[in-house]
Amino acid sequence: HAKSLGRSRSVVFETMMESNQLEFYRLEHDLDTAVEKNQLVLAFQPKVDLLSGHVVGLEALVRWNHPSRGYCYPKVFISVAERSDQIIRIDRWVMRAAIEAQAKWLAAGRTLLPIAINLSMADILSTDMVGYLDRLLAESGVPAGALEVEVTESSMMGEPEKTKTVMQALNLRGIATTLDDFGTGFSSLSYLRQLPLQSLKIDQSFIQSMLKDGNAEKLTQTIIAMGLALEMRVVAEGVETMEQMRWLVEHGCLIGQGYFFSPPVSADNIHGVVERIEQNNYWQ
Ligand code: C2E
Ligand code: MG
Ligand code: MG
Ligand code: MG
Repeated sequence: HAKSLGRSRSVVFETMMESNQLEFYRLEHDLDTAVEKNQLVLAFQPKVDLLSGHVVGLEALVRWNHPSRGYCYPKVFISVAERSDQIIRIDRWVMRAAIEAQAKWLAAGRTLLPIAINLSMADILSTDMVGYLDRLLAESGVPAGALEVEVTESSMMGEPEKTKTVMQALNLRGIATTLDDFGTGFSSLSYLRQLPLQSLKIDQSFIQSMLKDGNAEKLTQTIIAMGLALEMRVVAEGVETMEQMRWLVEHGCLIGQGYFFSPPVSADNIHGVVERIEQNNYWQ
């Protein structure tokens, strides 16, 4: 009996694996032409100075308008792209699109808000990534300071020396670097200290649990204290309530991002959203 049970379980498991494999190949195949078919689009989410209510920057988040699946979020395709190296092509499209958006806003006479893009490990390790950015910036006339880069802990740990070199090259040009999703990886503190990072972004899981769970609260406090001790800007992601915003300010985290202010929105809508946020008096 045990044996037949074991077998039926493994059949279910194998079928699941096969359909996952199939799904993977389908997505991989469709992703191959996503860039050339113009199916990718950027959404922008504001980063807010919690004390003044001013928007201090934007984060660019990629979406995929799939012909049959519709509007897809990164959860569906970034890991597929990372496993197949398509991520390099996608993220180079993201770099180009973010810089093109800035060039357009510059031409329209707007004061530029820095746009942060998310990079994967493969991008950092890819040949001439910084040179590619240099050329895009030079061609567009957009200042390097209008761009920022976010990298997760796990992306950095693969190749620490190379990561450090690339980040130094970015900083040298005036492109600020942020450690994204902090607290979910395993980076050693001594390594973190050596990296040229201007900001540390606390993962949203901490923000979501800190007011419900005493341990999460203490951890979040510790992360903020650590970032401040290393003289980094500390940013909270996933801020959804006024209570979270108040707690963050009381504990020294002065920049926030989240649905409380705005979800990521299209390029056409982002400036309306920025205006609305800045008209709001959160502390009254
Ligand atoms: P991330 O960089 O940590 O981005 C934050 C994610 O949290 C975004 O999800 C954002 O929409 C979501 N978020 C923002 N505020 C809130 C909130 O208040 N509550 C909740 N529950 N969620 C919130 P999104 O856009 O689905 O992106 C997921 C991840 O995909 C990103 O996490 C980033 O790691 C990756 N990603 C996004 N765009 C790119 C890209 O262009 N290139 C690469 N390599 N990765 C990307
Ligand atoms: Mg990010
Ligand atoms: Mg993040
Ligand atoms: Mg995150």
